[in-house]
Amino acid sequence: MQIARRMQRIPPYLFADLDRKRAALKAKGVDVISLAVGDPDLPTPDHIIEALAKAARDPATHQYPPYEGTREYREAVAGWYARRFGVTLDPGTEVLALIGSKEGLAHVPWVFVNPGDVALVSDPGYPVYATATMMADGEPYPVPMSRERGWVPDLGAIPSEVARRARVMFLNYPNNPTGGTAELAFFAEAVEFAKRWDVLVVHDNTYSEIAYDGYRPASFLQAPGARDVAIELHSLSKTYCMTGWRLGFAVGNRDAIQALGVLKTNIDSGQFAAIQAAGVAALTGPDAPVRERVARWQERRNTVVAGLRRAGLDAPLPKATFYLWIPVPAGYDAVGFTSHLLEHAGVVVTPGTGYGQRGEGYIRISLTTSDERFAEAVRRIREALGASAAERPVGSRAER
Ligand code: PLP
Repeated sequence: MQIARRMQRIPPYLFADLDRKRAALKAKGVDVISLAVGDPDLPTPDHIIEALAKAARDPATHQYPPYEGTREYREAVAGWYARRFGVTLDPGTEVLALIGSKEGLAHVPWVFVNPGDVALVSDPGYPVYATATMMADGEPYPVPMSRERGWVPDLGAIPSEVARRARVMFLNYPNNPTGGTAELAFFAEAVEFAKRWDVLVVHDNTYSEIAYDGYRPASFLQAPGARDVAIELHSLSKTYCMTGWRLGFAVGNRDAIQALGVLKTNIDSGQFAAIQAAGVAALTGPDAPVRERVARWQERRNTVVAGLRRAGLDAPLPKATFYLWIPVPAGYDAVGFTSHLLEHAGVVVTPGTGYGQRGEGYIRISLTTSDERFAEAVRRIREALGASAAERPVGSRAER
């Protein structure tokens, strides 16, 4: 058996690797606390579960669903966009159901990137944009992001010979892993860039509802002219605590939506119609359960950030997402500090380098672990850091 060459370019999926390390420690009897994966710890709201149960009992849901998603689901998406963003969508041509947004993101390069073409991916960024591009034999070009610029890229600094070869630009605000946010002025700039260089913007708006202190993130499609050059991908995973249900959607430019739909008809046969019915209940149902969950994360964010600051870490207070993107203390690199926390605190965090070269010098902590476990994790981190000054391993800036 031979594994195809393209697979050799793909690194192991970040969390698969972390899961293995955690399992090895657990097997040794260590009480490991994982703060690594962005998977909501709070339950899916009841009315959504009820909708699934009811729909699952209806034999009409047991057959293959329509490829593009059920009509009811696509109408619910359009209704939600109108209410939430004031953006009008035609459910027949501008909305496509996805089996989670990751599925859509992973298929985008197959549809829009020829072998050798460039996809612009933010660095640091969600790893799927780059790996999916490589799977389609395209070339991911890392667009630098920095704390100084609020984790928003300088599009003017992208070399014109790269922009000319680019077919797709992935953007993601609110941003994983940095917690950075972008406003409509930046989206308008991205529309101009896309028009100038004939690039499709793929905006990943997975975290639009996970925002704090009254902040309401925008849709890329609110920017003037966005629909000419962009699609936006969305997910029910984080908003409704439905990561395991695998339901998302793509909206926007109808030619792009149609092309993505053509690929999907050849690869998958859609998400279970009963899950789509539950998605309708989510998107058309009350907002209160979402607000309650976000309030819990906001409270946790405040407590955890305060605790980590007391432990000596320079933890920022993100306006959105459930991620803390924290500079590592002097003397460590990202992997070295991650190992230190694992070995001395039994706490799993994600090294920033898992999100690209410019993630060096950072770790990511996800707020999706219970308050009790967080209290224990912060206590252990504080101890590990208190103890660490004297015994900080020399040469921990290991090249790994
Ligand atoms: N996009 C970003 C930026 C994410 O962080 C994630 C999941 O962590 C996804 C997409 C995938 O979400 P889904 O569950 O909809 O596939």
